[in-house]
Amino acid sequence: MIPPLLSDTAFKPQATPSTWLGVMGGGQLGRMFVHAAQAMGYKVAVLEPAQDCPAGHAADQLISASYADAAALKELSQLCAAITTEFENVPAPSLASLSERAFVAPSAACVSVAQDRLEEKKFFMACAEQSKVQPAPHQRIAASSDIDTLAEDLLPGILKTVRMGYDGKGQARVNSIQEVRAAFASMQGVECVLEKMLPLAYEVSVLAARGADGQAVVYPIAENVHRDGILFTTTVPGPNVTADCAARAQAAALEIIARLNYVGVLCVEFFVLKDGSLVVNEMAPRPHNSGHYTIDACITSQFAQQVRAMARLPLGDVRQHSPAVMLNILGDLWFEDDSDTAREPAWEQVLALPGASLHLYGKDDPRRGRKMGHITFVAATLAAAQQSFEAACRLLHIQA
Ligand code: ATP
Ligand code: MG
Repeated sequence: MIPPLLSDTAFKPQATPSTWLGVMGGGQLGRMFVHAAQAMGYKVAVLEPAQDCPAGHAADQLISASYADAAALKELSQLCAAITTEFENVPAPSLASLSERAFVAPSAACVSVAQDRLEEKKFFMACAEQSKVQPAPHQRIAASSDIDTLAEDLLPGILKTVRMGYDGKGQARVNSIQEVRAAFASMQGVECVLEKMLPLAYEVSVLAARGADGQAVVYPIAENVHRDGILFTTTVPGPNVTADCAARAQAAALEIIARLNYVGVLCVEFFVLKDGSLVVNEMAPRPHNSGHYTIDACITSQFAQQVRAMARLPLGDVRQHSPAVMLNILGDLWFEDDSDTAREPAWEQVLALPGASLHLYGKDDPRRGRKMGHITFVAATLAAAQQSFEAACRLLHIQA
């Protein structure tokens, strides 16, 4: 029986433990979503092509099929009252077809804006009329003739594929027209966007959530450090973040989530430039790596919030109870420095540090650059959390 998620009937998750929620995608974000949903009494089905996947091991059911498989989509939407996505490159038409039978949050329309860097920037420019926060100066490069008319003040820049980029993949730094031509040729003819390289002072992200009733909440702003295009740490409160910057970024995220008529958790990434100005980079239509700190440091984690939003329950309290530093754990830690010699990270010693919580994603095959887990350090003060973080870096052979 489809539970009363789709009606106005009061919905009691604990009273209907047989209620199923669905998630498109089997990665670590799906796994942490499964944990949060199960903690609230739900059963969870995951649709993912890979048999062996982090979310699949935790889910009550894994439907192993391509994201566009009509029979699998039908099975998922018949089983589940509400469905979400953990992977932003799920085909939007698949989400649209799921929505014929189940409540899908975020919607196909919202996800498709976030899948296309040019659509996303166009949307951000519309939001900027209100928020005054613009995306980076940019130009579409879809053919080599677009390079002939390139505005030179976009150089030095970053050429990014319009679709399918993540963790700095599908990007090339370019300093001259010749380098733009070479980089575009290396992208094998896919549509690209050239963004001006901006003088970043630091990077921040804002996690927002919105319910089907239009109520929206915003988490404390997070300060992010990237290494080699991959998130390295998230610190909240951010040591560089001013109250004014936080207020402007949070207001911009709220404008974006409302204008999209979005339901669920959304993360918006911003750059803060050396002159203090704020630039909106991109958005992720799902919980985000920079929001992992919420599991250990906030009253409602980003994953529990996603459950609430899609189940049309009241949104949870976003308050942060402890300052936090989140450290991403990449596969590199399983190897001796610059060699192929395997080692096991010193978890016992790391877990002895005050306020440390280890989250591993159940991936058996550590590879350099692969996200294997994260550790969150919480404490009564940010300085104490940073102390544990620095001690962990020493134990794990990470340059802090
Ligand atoms: P992810 O999905 O992991 O967030 P991504 O592959 O979608 O990353 P971006 O967020 O666009 O890529 O870029 C990755 C990082 O590269 C940014 O966090 C920032 O450090 C740097 N970067 C991207 N665009 C610019 C820019 N225009 N100017 C300066 N630095 C930039
Ligand atoms: Mg990014």
